[in-house]
Amino acid sequence: MKVESVMITGANRGIGLEFVKQLSQLDEPPKYIFATYRSADSLKELNGIKESAQKTRIILIKMDVTSLEEIEVAKQIVEETVGDRGLNLLINNAGAVKMVTFPNLTTENLEFHYKINTEGPILVTQMMLPCLEKAASLQSGGMSVSRAAILNMTSLAGSIKNAGFEFTQDLHVPGYKISKAALNMAMRVIGALVKDKGILVVMMCPGWVKTDMGGRENAQLEPEESIAAMIKTLSTLDESSHACYMDRLGNPYPF
Ligand code: NDP
Repeated sequence: MKVESVMITGANRGIGLEFVKQLSQLDEPPKYIFATYRSADSLKELNGIKESAQKTRIILIKMDVTSLEEIEVAKQIVEETVGDRGLNLLINNAGAVKMVTFPNLTTENLEFHYKINTEGPILVTQMMLPCLEKAASLQSGGMSVSRAAILNMTSLAGSIKNAGFEFTQDLHVPGYKISKAALNMAMRVIGALVKDKGILVVMMCPGWVKTDMGGRENAQLEPEESIAAMIKTLSTLDESSHACYMDRLGNPYPF
C-alpha cells in the first residue's frame, strides 16, 4: 500500500499502535504518520517506534477525540506539515468499552460509548475533511486509499441484523454495540456526502484481537495478524467498497 500521509487516532496502544508500526515498516512507507494519543502516560512504545522509523516522520499529537479544541489543534499541525499535499488516510481507531448490561444501563454508560465511539470519529472526520479533500483533488479517476480515504475501526458487534444471532457474548455491552451501529450509520451518511469528492469511506472490523479491549485470553488474533490483513485489504479497495461494512479481509458484512 502506497500512501503519503496517514493520521491514526488512539495510536499509543493496541490496534492503533500496531498500525503505526506496520505502516512505518512498509517498503514504501508513508512520509508522515500523525499518531494521536489521549494521555502522555503511555507513550513508551509509540516513542520507540517513532525513534526506530527510518523513512517515516512519526508526529505525535495529543488529541482526545471528545475534545473539539484538541481536534482543532491536531488539524492545524497536520495542515502545517502536509501543506498542499493534504492528508491521504484518516484511521478513526480510538475506541472504548465499559461493561454495563441491560437492564442496568445508565445514561453515563450510554453517553460514554456514544461520545468516544460515535461522536469522536464524526468530529475528527469533519475537522480533517478539508485536508482529505485536498489530497483527493490531486488525483483524478477512481477511489483508493492512496488517493484519500477514511478507515473507521468499527466492529461486527455493530451489526443490527446479527445482534443476538452470530455472536452473543457482546450482548453484555449494549452501549458499545449501539455506538458502533451508530458509527456505521454516521459513516454511511458521510460516505454518501463525500462520494463526489473522491474520498473513500469504509467501516472495517479488525476481528477479535488480543489487546486491552479485546482481552488477551479469549481473543483470536494477534495484533500483527489483524493489522497485516487490514493493510493488505486496504490496498485493494476501490469505489466498489465505498461506504461498505466489512471484515478485515474485505468480506462484506450486513449492517
Ligand atoms: P484498546 O483499548 O487496546 O485501545 C484503545 C485506544 O483508543 C487507546 O489508544 C486509547 O487511548 C484510545 N482512546 C480511548 N478513548 C479515547 C478518547 N476519548 N480519545 C482518544 N483516544 C481514546 O483497543 P483496541 O486497540 O483493541 O481497539 C481499537 C479499535 O478497534 C476500537 O475502535 C475498537 O472498538 C475496535 N475493535 C477492537 C476489537 C478487538 O478485538 N480488540 C474488535 C472490534 C473492534 P488511552 O490509552 O489513552 O486509553
